[in-house]
Amino acid sequence: MIFSKEKIILEYTVEKCQKCNLERKRKYHEGDFLFTESSKCDSCDGITVIEKIFGETIEK
Ligand SMILES: [Zn+2]
Repeated sequence: MIFSKEKIILEYTVEKCQKCNLERKRKYHEGDFLFTESSKCDSCDGITVIEKIFGETIEK
């Protein structure tokens, strides 16, 4: 196997509550899609929607 430069890509998902606008960043999980309902908000009874998915590259 050939490895080029060792890089780690961390993917994050940003969820935003539609009710109180609380944003929460968490690790990306397979099956996350933009603008889909994700989970219950921590601080109110609203539902969070996935607003952003992004990756951060970390070079070793
Ligand atoms: Zn909320």
